Amino acid sequence: SKPIVAIVGRPNVGKSTLFNALAGKKISIVKDTPGVTRDRIHADVDWLDHKFTMIDTGGIEPDSNDIILSQMREQAQIAIDTADVIIFMTDVKQGLVDSDAKVADMLRRSHKPVILVVNKVDNFNKMMADVYEFYNLGIGDPVPISASQRSGLGDMLDKVVNYF
Ligand code: GDP
Ligand code: MG
Repeated sequence: SKPIVAIVGRPNVGKSTLFNALAGKKISIVKDTPGVTRDRIHADVDWLDHKFTMIDTGGIEPDSNDIILSQMREQAQIAIDTADVIIFMTDVKQGLVDSDAKVADMLRRSHKPVILVVNKVDNFNKMMADVYEFYNLGIGDPVPISASQRSGLGDMLDKVVNYF
């Protein structure tokens, strides 16, 4: 069967925007409200001669005791366990935060291949200096993208399918 790629990261970093850009139709809900996507959502994606199933997740807030946020964390953990490759999304506008480091720890424990994606890099020339900060997560080279402008997605997908 097809490889499974899960998109994980904190709420509001742009996971559903990326999911929708790759799925080619509006399947998951994108809102300014953090964590609006509570259920796992699947889509079939083709990249060059590769086919895979992509899973969007609601997001991970590592420290929250809130019932909704802990359910979202559980769903994300299921997606991580199911995935062959994980897209770990962060947000250059918010910068590297403590929760990102905690999500990175969760992902290291999974022993799955992880692509560290830094989203909202809407201007590659001006914002690359801010992208380098994400090397500090110690989980690989940060891949800059802008999900809303659909830039950097080809380079990102090349790295994803490389693990199939
Ligand atoms: P999720 O909670 O991780 O699924 O995040 P969403 O996909 O719902 O996006 C959260 C917010 O970030 C929305 O307002 C999006 O329009 C915005 N967003 C997503 N991608 C980008 C991007 O590449 N650049 C900018 N500037 N905003 C983005
Ligand atoms: Mg979402």
